[in-house]
Amino acid sequence: MKFCSLYSGSSGNSLYVSAKDTAILVDAGLSGKQIERAMNAHQLKPEKLQGILVTHEHRDHIHGVGVLSRRYRLPIYANEDTWQAMENKLGKLKPELIRIIPESQPFPLGDLEVNSFSIQHDAANPVGFTLHDGKKNIAIATDTGWISEDVKTIMSKMDLVVLESNHDLAMLESGCYPYPLKQRIKSSIGHLSNVDAAEIACYLAHQGVAHIILAHLSAENNYPLLAYQTVATALEKKSVRPGKDLNLAVAKRSGPGTLTTL
Ligand SMILES: [Zn+2]
Ligand SMILES: [Zn+2]
Repeated sequence: MKFCSLYSGSSGNSLYVSAKDTAILVDAGLSGKQIERAMNAHQLKPEKLQGILVTHEHRDHIHGVGVLSRRYRLPIYANEDTWQAMENKLGKLKPELIRIIPESQPFPLGDLEVNSFSIQHDAANPVGFTLHDGKKNIAIATDTGWISEDVKTIMSKMDLVVLESNHDLAMLESGCYPYPLKQRIKSSIGHLSNVDAAEIACYLAHQGVAHIILAHLSAENNYPLLAYQTVATALEKKSVRPGKDLNLAVAKRSGPGTLTTL
């Protein structure tokens, strides 16, 4: 199984996952050209994609979905509520490329088994995904103000977890955002902070998760080294050595990260 974050952050998200002959995107929140450019950097071919999974209808997750679907005849997978909330933002779509996914029930997408789980965010019916190729497992959980025990349990069984580490609380509180926006981000339907991510990462590390990718960093209220150090310090306090006991990385806002093979 292969994983690569093409872009991750409040200005646009797209993740690449492949297994055997199947390659997909999870979200496509930038222009089609930007996503193609990021894929090309790793010699990944957009023509080989077989679908786009959509977590929720916010622009930073769907901006390029319609264009890519039209250009490469890609089916788009989302739950019913997300479809209702996003359909008029995607442009004209071929009806056969509209795929409504079941809630919390696994379904096949080529060589992958996909399952969705509910997350806490201010969108119609936002979800995270697990992806399974018969051997390895990946979970993706960003844009969530809170992680339930159920979701923690799901994530603990994974080989790789993409975990939101959106903001540093002190930067958010002292920053220039208007008060209501600060409250929204901090709320249980907003975004996870670096400290939240650190706590979850410690739990996942002890459950044997081998790769944790910190994702969806805010441009204004975080920076990669701060997110990394907050989580790494918490792990070290629990005697987990990032780089040795597990792979800890920060997904880049503006381009692709490493192509990880599981
Ligand atoms: Zn987002
Ligand atoms: Zn969102």
